[in-house]
Amino acid sequence: MSEMKIKELIAQSDSLLQSTQQVVKQALQHLHFDQVTYELLKEPLRFLTVRIPVKMDDGSVQVFTGYRSQHNDAIGPTKGGIRFHPDVTEDEIKALSLWMSIKCGITNLPFGGGKGGIVCDPRNMSFNEIERLSRGYVRAISQIVGPTKDIPAPDVFTNSQVMAWMMDEYSRIRELDSPGFITGKPLVLGGSAGRESSTALGVVMVTKEAAKLKGISLEGAKVIIQGFGNAGSYLAKFLHDAGSIIVGISDALGALYNPEGLDIDYLLDNRDSFGTVTNLFSDVITNAELLTKECDIIIPAAIENQINEGNVNGIKAKLIVEAANGPTTNKATEILNEKGVLIVPDVLANSGGVVVSYFEWVQNNQGLYWEHEEVIERLEKIMISSFHKIHSMSVNKRVNMRVAAYMVGLEKVSQAMKWRGWV
Ligand code: GLU
Repeated sequence: MSEMKIKELIAQSDSLLQSTQQVVKQALQHLHFDQVTYELLKEPLRFLTVRIPVKMDDGSVQVFTGYRSQHNDAIGPTKGGIRFHPDVTEDEIKALSLWMSIKCGITNLPFGGGKGGIVCDPRNMSFNEIERLSRGYVRAISQIVGPTKDIPAPDVFTNSQVMAWMMDEYSRIRELDSPGFITGKPLVLGGSAGRESSTALGVVMVTKEAAKLKGISLEGAKVIIQGFGNAGSYLAKFLHDAGSIIVGISDALGALYNPEGLDIDYLLDNRDSFGTVTNLFSDVITNAELLTKECDIIIPAAIENQINEGNVNGIKAKLIVEAANGPTTNKATEILNEKGVLIVPDVLANSGGVVVSYFEWVQNNQGLYWEHEEVIERLEKIMISSFHKIHSMSVNKRVNMRVAAYMVGLEKVSQAMKWRGWV
């Protein structure tokens, strides 16, 4: 099926928020929570839309739209990244903030979910324009965020430099040094050791556990990684180091596949800062084609809706580990589950990012910084126990791993709302 046709199919199906709500409903029913709990959890408690005027390098002014969604703060401050992407929508940011509540619940962090986004394409903006946009966004949302209210972090196309500008702007507004306002900062500004690679490392930790269940050894396993940004590129490196054969990777322009394995060191050395590398090759295939190639494990690490009704029947992998947020549609999840493919859902698989963000916030609050080994050790404990909690829930309640993850993730927030007397 052509990429155009697949896009049409997705446009006709449920929105990200609607399909998330369906799983939330299922999970809450299994947990015997009432309808009111669902009513409160199906949408964010607070959602802010802002318009940000930015002086461009040519002297003109461009007005950007930004969002911040605070899904639920019954457990504690809301937490979640900010993405810069031309396809950002209100609906997507709402769904992403709900997923953050679930991730924080699964990993037992004292946070609720939040998420932000700006509709823009940083690939076509200068360094200075991105700085002015980042600072403008913080000025626009400063009333509702803060180290004990809502703590942002990196997400698609934002990095430690963007976090540094945002922290600086917030500290100026509040007239005090406020490293705990945002996580994913550079080390010299109070960042945590290991934060940048933490999402990928967490994915590898749960991939190991899931592979054991499927009788796959990571050493020698053939892996396809979709996306070569922060998560995708670190994943390629870690899995390559662990002896896996990376047979396919992709970026926004296309994909590369070689059944003998790709030259990962070359790809890592030659990608640009947005993870683009396929432009250096002539034998490029499409992202959709890549997912149907022969392999043991697929790790989608790009954007939403990549495994869908259009390509699900061509998938050969026995294990899918969702490093990206929302890469598999509900329908595709159903079909793959029926075929016996194990899907480690996004809210579990990529939660290593927010876990180390939590460590960063703790270190900022106490002013005492941990060694890299300590971060890894603590992360591993949380990722492995979260995986087994969800796997046991899935076996005991006879639900798939996604529903089980939502159950584990939503139980605490539902109880917290009850204790507070909200429902
Ligand atoms: N953006 C990341 C996520 O989707 C990290 C969020 C955070 O560190 O707060 O989980």
